[in-house]
Amino acid sequence: MNEFSALNRNAINEKLSDNKFDILIIGGGITGAGIALDAAARGLKIALIEQNDFASGTSSKSTKLIHGGLRYLKQFDVKLVKEVGSERAIVHKLAPHLVLPEKMLLPLIKDGTYGKVMSSIGLKVYDILAGVKGDDRRRMLNKKKAMAIEPLLPENILEGAGYYAEYRTDDARLTIEVLKTALNYDTTALNYTKAIDFVYEEGKVRGAKVKDSISNKEYEIKANYVINATGPWVDELRTINKSKEGKRLHLTKGVHLTFAHEKLPIKNAVYFDIPDGRMMFAIPRGKTTYIGTTDTNYTEDKNDVKVTKEDVKYLVDAVNNMFPTVDLQVQDLQSCWAGLRPLIHEEGKSESELSRKDEIFVSPTELISIAGGKLTGYRKMAQRIVYLISKMNQKGKGKLFSNSKTRKIVLSGGKFNGKNDVISYIKTIEERIIPFGFNHVDAAYLVHNYGKQANIILDYFDNLVENDNDWRLMLAELWFGVKYEMVQTPLDFLERRTGNMNFDINRVLKYKSRVLDEFKTVFDWNDKEFMYFKNQTNLIIKGLKP
Ligand code: FAD
Repeated sequence: MNEFSALNRNAINEKLSDNKFDILIIGGGITGAGIALDAAARGLKIALIEQNDFASGTSSKSTKLIHGGLRYLKQFDVKLVKEVGSERAIVHKLAPHLVLPEKMLLPLIKDGTYGKVMSSIGLKVYDILAGVKGDDRRRMLNKKKAMAIEPLLPENILEGAGYYAEYRTDDARLTIEVLKTALNYDTTALNYTKAIDFVYEEGKVRGAKVKDSISNKEYEIKANYVINATGPWVDELRTINKSKEGKRLHLTKGVHLTFAHEKLPIKNAVYFDIPDGRMMFAIPRGKTTYIGTTDTNYTEDKNDVKVTKEDVKYLVDAVNNMFPTVDLQVQDLQSCWAGLRPLIHEEGKSESELSRKDEIFVSPTELISIAGGKLTGYRKMAQRIVYLISKMNQKGKGKLFSNSKTRKIVLSGGKFNGKNDVISYIKTIEERIIPFGFNHVDAAYLVHNYGKQANIILDYFDNLVENDNDWRLMLAELWFGVKYEMVQTPLDFLERRTGNMNFDINRVLKYKSRVLDEFKTVFDWNDKEFMYFKNQTNLIIKGLKP
């Protein structure tokens, strides 16, 4: 496995400034990471920079589903449903430990969004479009069967349910694994490096001026083509490039909340109606259940997207409406996150009606911007944009690039023979960690987060001398994150590499001081630096309970 070490920043900076690349990708979310892998696997030399941490934008703030998007069928967006629907099974195969099959219940209630007949037809079409086979095909359940599967549903208004297949993932981990896979080819990537301007040659964008916010150094990265894959920030770079005309972004905010599983003890993921006519998810995950999402227009600070008390109340009320015996309380909230959908503006359409399709804009100076889209469709988006550049290259008397290879490239940590192999690997890991007081849930956490890389973490764990085994494991994960996943700050580790901030807040609260101390040692922070990161971490933790 490649080292992708935060202690190696200087060397990576030098590589970025001293080489000329085929493509420079600006933005380290799933879109940028996907493009890096697609292009690098075709033999191109790729640079990727991210202004903050990888996946710190929308790509760690989604519903974390690899899904076909049932609701887009309602908007007759058949092409989108077909594409992302068929992508689900492919992405699952590329990382079966990280993209997990998740059965969904669609309760049918009196006067709900989908009636019995419409649901039955809709789910069938959904399966056909996505090529779903065998046991995964949708089943329509009568009221009794639906209640047996999910006893918390509202018995008095329930008429039955649809039961269909989707996949669940961790968006930030998917992004980092895609990026790490790109590093197996000719890719150089760095976080905390912001594009602040473009480099032009004969009137064309041929690189970017960047600033490393860790060292405060500014330098240029040269490339034949530059892709703006900055999600919600796409229009900012188009403005710098003086090419923001015609279509523009329309941002909408989406909020998710996490509760201890016992507070909302559903057995299945449920996709249900809410009184204002929208729909939302409730998804059990490890020790928690998370719910979401809202969909509201957003024009405020993109770098500080907040969950408000109103967002929390809206989602909690919606849950209590669908699961009347649960009595979820606002104060039960453990954690939350808010993200921005980088959608393309369409005159006269409301937030929920805007299409989730991706679009590519090429400016007169050849800045290539990509916006919209979904986590699920990252591979296809990458193929489209690299194909477009291939054509541009051919027109400029270069050659066409080879075809995309990502359909067969297993993601880092994902060398499994299907889901049963993942299950048996969890068992192996469980046997390895039981003597230290851990259990099946801990083994599943390690495998779903890191896949086969769990072994590397446990080898390190074995060599640590620590009395507290919980801390010892966290320390081993931290070491792995710094050495192999470019972890630079406590939040990179607690939020995006481990997902603990969202799904295991008690672990964060218990060990946050020790984590901060460890970072101080590893990165040799002075007191001022230490205080900066301590405040940053505490502020985020405070924001988890608005
Ligand atoms: P981002 O992840 O935002 O990445 C862009 C990156 O560019 C950011 O990290 C940013 O810091 C960086 N950047 C910006 N400016 C600069 C600069 N000047 N220099 C360097 N870097 C820069 N999709 C699904 O398939 N399934 C779901 O369940 C799902 N749920 C969603 C729920 C919500 C609430 C939202 C908001 C979206 C959801 N999506 C879902 C959509 C999906 O999350 C997004 O389409 C996807 O994450 C967008 O990724 P991106 O890489 O384009 O943008």
